Amino acid sequence: MARISYVNGQYVDHRNASVHIEDRGFQFADSVYEVFAVQNSCLIDGDAHLDRLDRSLNELSITQPMSRAALKLVIREVLRRNHITYGALYLQVTRGQADRDFPFPSDITPTLVLTVKRLKPFDYNAVSQGIKVISIDDIRWKRCDIKTVSLLAGAMGKTQAKQAGAYEAWQVDGEGCITEGTSSNAWIVTQDGLLVTRSLSTDILGGITRKTLLAIAEKENLKFEERSFTLAEAKSAREAFSSSSTVFIRPIIQIDDAKIGDGKPGPFCLNVLKLYGQYMENCS
Ligand code: PMP
Repeated sequence: MARISYVNGQYVDHRNASVHIEDRGFQFADSVYEVFAVQNSCLIDGDAHLDRLDRSLNELSITQPMSRAALKLVIREVLRRNHITYGALYLQVTRGQADRDFPFPSDITPTLVLTVKRLKPFDYNAVSQGIKVISIDDIRWKRCDIKTVSLLAGAMGKTQAKQAGAYEAWQVDGEGCITEGTSSNAWIVTQDGLLVTRSLSTDILGGITRKTLLAIAEKENLKFEERSFTLAEAKSAREAFSSSSTVFIRPIIQIDDAKIGDGKPGPFCLNVLKLYGQYMENCS
């Protein structure tokens, strides 16, 4: 079955889906995106992702490509045409196509692209396996709160992680504190059983999974704090994990050469993972 993508009003064979070489997304990374998880045909936290998309567009003064209601119809149609029950939906909006020149051009039509990828359903046993992370300097720009496609620092970090036999790289700021993973938010559980994640600022992306997990923690009366933590604190934490929309929650069993806890996924993280799985099951 042919994979179908959406490009500027057309549903096209994925192999022929393309935008112009003078698109500002290609020339300047002048472009924002969202990745949604699809579980049992349901878009997980769809409105929260669309809210974040609106925010990214507003921060960069990129025109909304269409109304939210119209965008939801396009999303549904792309999922329908690809018969996606479990997978990831990728949506990108660029400022549009114009002769290459740095200042934002006026009167430009944004480019809208949607693609989908089929993925395995959320499987507690698979995702509850622990992962290793490495630490790297955070070399990114100062607006990490905007979800732009300028992802080269993340790609470099993830490559370094892969070469070191790790799954993710946690980025460290000038003060020695963890900002976030290259494509995930970072969490620790202290020796006192307190859940900690960095507070929202321009230093990190406001993850949708992060937001949902904090709401779950609140509901379940789990003690949590939004604050910075150092790499040293992370290495001596009782537990650690990462969160993102399509990779969900991953227990971390090692940071650099330091084993976390007893080197196995811990009960706090496994409980959160179970609760998040239930949350996704109840999505409508
Ligand atoms: N931080 C960064 C840098 C990311 O790229 C991602 C993944 N989009 C996240 C955090 C997690 O965000 P979300 O939970 O919305 O997928």
